[in-house]
Amino acid sequence: MIQVALKRGSTAPAATAALPEEKRHAVLVAKKQLTPTIWDITFQIDGALTAYAPGQFARMHVGQGEWRDYSIAGVDSEAVRFLISTRTGGDGSHFIESASVGTRTEIELPLGEYTLVESPRNKVFVATGTGLTPFLPMFGALAQQERLGEAALIFGCKTVAEDITTGMAPLPAQVTRCVSREPAPAGGVQGRVTDALARLAFDPADTDFYVCGSSAMVTDCKALLERRGAVHVFIESY
Ligand SMILES: Cc1cc2nc3c(=O)[nH]c(=O)nc-3n(C[C@H](O)[C@H](O)[C@H](O)COP(=O)(O)OP(=O)(O)OC[C@H]3O[C@@H](n4cnc5c(N)ncnc54)[C@H](O)[C@@H]3O)c2cc1C
Repeated sequence: MIQVALKRGSTAPAATAALPEEKRHAVLVAKKQLTPTIWDITFQIDGALTAYAPGQFARMHVGQGEWRDYSIAGVDSEAVRFLISTRTGGDGSHFIESASVGTRTEIELPLGEYTLVESPRNKVFVATGTGLTPFLPMFGALAQQERLGEAALIFGCKTVAEDITTGMAPLPAQVTRCVSREPAPAGGVQGRVTDALARLAFDPADTDFYVCGSSAMVTDCKALLERRGAVHVFIESY
């Protein structure tokens, strides 16, 4: 794009210059802080997103030639929602922390093949932190099929204040909250998601597991589930 613009002597501002088809201009239209390090952010993209499947991700320009991948939390025509953690403190975190309504960037989307697998099996979703993100639109899709009642979510966080499931909808009927560094709320598990998975009763042939979070968490969960006989384990690793 830069080379073409230089040849043409173009002075078009970045917000209006043409982008390759898969990349969109985007402007931040809503930003809400959910926890000290997790932000709920909505960008308006130019043109409705039509070919999108719940669970896919987007690649966002976070400045100085750097791009970061973020799962899509929801799509409403031209509005695309993300849940982004700034705990790691890198370029993506700095961009998100400093961005405000009106901030412009480019977003490539939709990307990836992490989506719901067609199957009649029970579904157990396992997430820590913003690993919940790709599951939110999947929950919406299951709710439309009237199948969310059969699903279960095991969500992990360090403290009760970091429980981002509060206020999210729709969620599966059965939600197990695992809190690793302080007592869990009633009905929850004090410990990690792996502690909840170790105790879970399930039929390996009849259960799909979807696991999303840091690579360490995903690796631990997958190994544990496979030791317990699970055969349908679908992972997305951050
Ligand atoms: C398909 C996909 C979807 C993703 N979706 C989301 C999402 O929805 N929300 C979200 O918040 N993030 C998501 N991520 C992670 C995101 O892309 C960034 O990698 C992450 O936010 C860190 O970016 P950063 O610029 O802050 O840190 P970086 O500049 O990438 O890294 C800064 C420092 O933190 C370390 N670091 C990076 N990631 C981790 C980690 N997971 N655990 C521990 N240390 C780490 C690095 O080694 C480095 O030392 C996704 C990643 C992938 C691959």
